[in-house]
Amino acid sequence: MLAAEKSKKTRHVLGISGGKDSAALAIYLKQQGRVPEMEYFFADTGVELPEVYSFVEKLESWLGQPIVRLGSGKDFYHHLEMHEGMLPQATRRWCTQEMKLKPLEKFIGDDEAITYIGIRADEFRDGYLSLKSNVKPCYPFITDGLVRRDIFDILRSTVGIPEYYEWRSRSGCFFCFFQRRDEWVGLSERHPELFQKAMEIEEGVNRRFSNLKKPYTWVRGMSLKELIADAEAIKEKSALRKAREKDPRSWQEILISDRQDDENQACLVCSL
Ligand code: SF4
Repeated sequence: MLAAEKSKKTRHVLGISGGKDSAALAIYLKQQGRVPEMEYFFADTGVELPEVYSFVEKLESWLGQPIVRLGSGKDFYHHLEMHEGMLPQATRRWCTQEMKLKPLEKFIGDDEAITYIGIRADEFRDGYLSLKSNVKPCYPFITDGLVRRDIFDILRSTVGIPEYYEWRSRSGCFFCFFQRRDEWVGLSERHPELFQKAMEIEEGVNRRFSNLKKPYTWVRGMSLKELIADAEAIKEKSALRKAREKDPRSWQEILISDRQDDENQACLVCSL
């Protein structure tokens, strides 16, 4: 086939975030043999949770096909510097733009492409939608009517539910600012070195902007140093909530039936 003809062929791409829905979608479509020419990619910021990397490797081995790692070619610290040391936040999400979306746009280029998105039939949210007219979204779970429980059934019968869901509600960077306070405490217990790193980043930024009235913090209104000093109270609050709910189920069962999907507020290229 001539190079010019090859480039005209529509590409089929599926982004693996390390989260449950994109993994289940990749498995679902593979099981049905629906898109044999599928290209899988993982937009790697270089600062993802270690469990995310292991899950992507596990999935890759199940799929029997490479998941292409995309990256910006620069580390987080470079991008932080390029953004004048301002920590990314929900309202200033340069991290997704620089470390996930731009590498993805580059990967697709001007090719005609269909991007497969794991939004389910029981939720209302948008996935990554390229503004470029050459990229068209496709939502197989919606068209096939698959809901939350179906996604977990797919995972449980194949690669399993990613273990980090036991203590964290989404995949993505270890310092993701979408984390709840108890998840930060979870990070400090499971990956103390990463928690320390996140704290150092925050402190470094604030040494630089010591004249700011409101310091830059990962968590709204509270530094990680303050948060960790309050760790016992945060854990107690979260345990109390669980006790109040008197829920004897395992974390997997609770996760499966949870109607509030915390991932809703995150960027989907990060955690779908
Ligand atoms: S996971 Fe969080 S910190 Fe990482 S790129 Fe996405 S929004 Fe930003």
